[in-house]
Amino acid sequence: MRWGAFAALALASCTTKPAVETVPAPRTYAHGIGGATFLIGGSFAPGRSPDGNSVILYGPEGSILVDTGRGAEHLTAIRQGLSGLGFPLVAIVNTHWHLDHVSGNPALRAAHPGVKIYGTSAIDGALTGFLATSAAASRRALADGTLPAAARADVEGDLATIARGGELRPDVIVDEPRDMTIAGRPLSLRIAHRAATTRDLWLYDADQKRAIVGDLVTVPAPFLDTACPEGWLKALDDVAASGAEQVVPGHGPIMPIADFHRWRGAFGDFIACARGAGALEGCSAGWLAGASRWIGDDSVRAKAMADYYGGLIRAGKLDGYCTA
Ligand SMILES: [Zn+2]
Repeated sequence: MRWGAFAALALASCTTKPAVETVPAPRTYAHGIGGATFLIGGSFAPGRSPDGNSVILYGPEGSILVDTGRGAEHLTAIRQGLSGLGFPLVAIVNTHWHLDHVSGNPALRAAHPGVKIYGTSAIDGALTGFLATSAAASRRALADGTLPAAARADVEGDLATIARGGELRPDVIVDEPRDMTIAGRPLSLRIAHRAATTRDLWLYDADQKRAIVGDLVTVPAPFLDTACPEGWLKALDDVAASGAEQVVPGHGPIMPIADFHRWRGAFGDFIACARGAGALEGCSAGWLAGASRWIGDDSVRAKAMADYYGGLIRAGKLDGYCTA
């Protein structure tokens, strides 16, 4: 089995990744996005594994962190963001179990002993399933020397993270939608079934009319490695119906709601095309055109990703995620 060629969680993936040289975007440290909320942009440098976006929300009783990234640089940026106002970190919310969103959990838990981690139970199946299998593939790739040098550190880091997999698990399981007050701040935790993973969590901040959706929205392509495409579409319908005027994606820039609708349209077209019978190249071309405003000069990598994920859909390789 060929593991996710690019992605988010893929470990041995780098063996199949095409060589793409673009200038990486500068890392964005925490910057305010309104409503006592700060974004720490995830990086996705060529040849490297990505970090997901992290979001810090400040409340009267402390700070809330959404997603903890993968790499050491991202963790440093989170720490800088958290130290900015000196509020205690009281909660971490993980949108899903991909390693570019949860790898900072153990270090942050150790540094903030009072913190509670919220997330779905889907990580349990991942630890014994996808991640275990993926780790075995990574160990083989490291042993046979097929990994590019630039990718080794990320892969070794992921293996170390998986070895401590139990420490990634949430303290509070949220498998059903819940309206909560965390750190004195009201937030609605929403659940998407069989979307980017078996169970994804996203947040709706009604005060700010802002949806923080994790990998229900990603650029330069949808990260479909563990996804049910149709469940994902349904989740996007729920985001659209939430009342959000702004969407914070798992990867990529913040989207005003009109941009979210554009992204959702391009995603829906891509899935419909890949489920159809026409040439897959046309599906990738449609994605590149529909999502061009977010792809920019990253079109070579975006096309390679779209080709890969379109192939997975067309071959039925994601269908198991729709029944799991
Ligand atoms: Zn991600």
